[in-house]
Amino acid sequence: MDLKEVFGKIENLDEFRRHYNTAESCLKEIAANKWRMGFECKKCGHIHFCEGKSPYSRRCTKCKTDESATAHTLFHHCRMNIVDAFEMAYLICCAPDISSYELSRKTQTRQMTCWKFKKKLNDYMSV
Ligand SMILES: [Zn+2]
Repeated sequence: MDLKEVFGKIENLDEFRRHYNTAESCLKEIAANKWRMGFECKKCGHIHFCEGKSPYSRRCTKCKTDESATAHTLFHHCRMNIVDAFEMAYLICCAPDISSYELSRKTQTRQMTCWKFKKKLNDYMSV
């Protein structure tokens, strides 16, 4: 997925928080961006899908494999809840040099968690 494309249309943190204040709204955006070129099953390559079990997940109609909205994205296996993680990603994209201490203060999240997430995001962005 392309985070810059997702966050580029948001003016500021207030607007961001209005848009993405529920897990649903975050997952919807992640799914829309991740599959913007269309769905392709990671297992069998089939391109047709139906709704999967979790919100905004997709299920291959051929091999029945479910792919969640966050699978293969930065937000996969994320310990924070998705709303917090999404906001943190936004803050880092807006200010790539932001320190983990400042992130911690702004998001009320432990500094070590912020540091790890920032590292993950940087690794992810440089791929
Ligand atoms: Zn499949």
